[in-house]
Amino acid sequence: MRAFVYQGLPSRVIFGSGVIAEAPVAAAELGCRRVMVLATRSQEAGAEALMQMLGEAGAAVFPRAAMHTPVEVTDRAMALVESARVDGLIALGGGSAIGLSKAIALRTDLPQVVIPTTYAGSEMTPVIGQTQAGAKTTQRSPKVLPETVIYDVDLTLSLPASVSVTSGFNAMAHAAEALYSRSANRLLWAIAEECIRSMAMALPRIVVTPDDPEPRADALEAAWLGGRCLAEGGSALHHRLCHILGGAFDLPHAETHTVLLPHVLAYNGPAASEAMLRLGQALDSETPVQVLFDLAQSLGAPGSLKAIGMPKDGIDRAIETLLADPVWNPRPLEPKPLKAMLRRAFDGARPR
Ligand code: NAD
Repeated sequence: MRAFVYQGLPSRVIFGSGVIAEAPVAAAELGCRRVMVLATRSQEAGAEALMQMLGEAGAAVFPRAAMHTPVEVTDRAMALVESARVDGLIALGGGSAIGLSKAIALRTDLPQVVIPTTYAGSEMTPVIGQTQAGAKTTQRSPKVLPETVIYDVDLTLSLPASVSVTSGFNAMAHAAEALYSRSANRLLWAIAEECIRSMAMALPRIVVTPDDPEPRADALEAAWLGGRCLAEGGSALHHRLCHILGGAFDLPHAETHTVLLPHVLAYNGPAASEAMLRLGQALDSETPVQVLFDLAQSLGAPGSLKAIGMPKDGIDRAIETLLADPVWNPRPLEPKPLKAMLRRAFDGARPR
């Protein structure tokens, strides 16, 4: 008989069009009087606009968030938190801006309002990954879970179609690994299947009509579900490998997820028949892993680890790192099949 423990997480979610306007009130409701706005460099203008909206409550802006949350960037942001006497954070952007907000919250427990503009899903999780000296380490802490999440569909219209596709695969990866999670239950399965179904239907529409808010709304709502899957279901081999490759070779996060996902699912498939059945239901196919691979290719996503900058000798290094600190996975971590799987992902071969 199945047994599980379910822990719901206490985030407040505001979803809609134009709802970024609610950010000042959301911050004030959390008791924030001196807010710091965080973003990556490419979203600096949006961060400055948010500062204007905050009026007197806008204490500082730090538009230098970076992918994989490097500790030295957090150190620089912390200096500003202290000098500007910041008492609350608003992150505007994808997982990089949100990661920086979480890293500061981990050190300070400051309240966070986050405004996600990609589909990475970090906003829903109490998980933080940080990178130091080429190694990315992940930890869970209730301190890093944002109190309020504002999903404004309008802000995602500028996300280039190519980034939307890989970010959408990032969300589907959270859901796919939740399907075989040790804490899987009917609620999680329902959320995971709906995430994969809606995202797989939305992405081709976004590529054809990137300015249409309807598929954008579907994708953003699916991203919320994907984030919940990661938060409530946990993760396994796929996420661990993405973190190892991202930390060691500075590979782009969403693209790494996109390339690896079908390969890791093919590896895990024989040990996760119920999950594969549910993946098939979500994608309306008896060969869902191939459907995911074909979907990524048809939408122009990068097809191989080689294409996104992984060095060839990285395969052995990644497997060494993985086996030195193994993660729970439905299929045991077997060095030879793992190497064959990573080799196919490196070359861009069809998953098997
Ligand atoms: P990102 O945040 O780096 O965004 C990619 C690029 O797109 C950035 O330059 C950003 O400024 C730009 N961008 C974002 N939204 C945009 C928009 N709407 N319009 C135009 N440009 C936009 O990438 P990401 O994939 O969202 O996040 C990756 C990071 O998130 C990684 O560090 C990863 O580890 C982390 N992450 C963490 C979790 C977690 O639960 N802790 C979950 C998922 C991802």
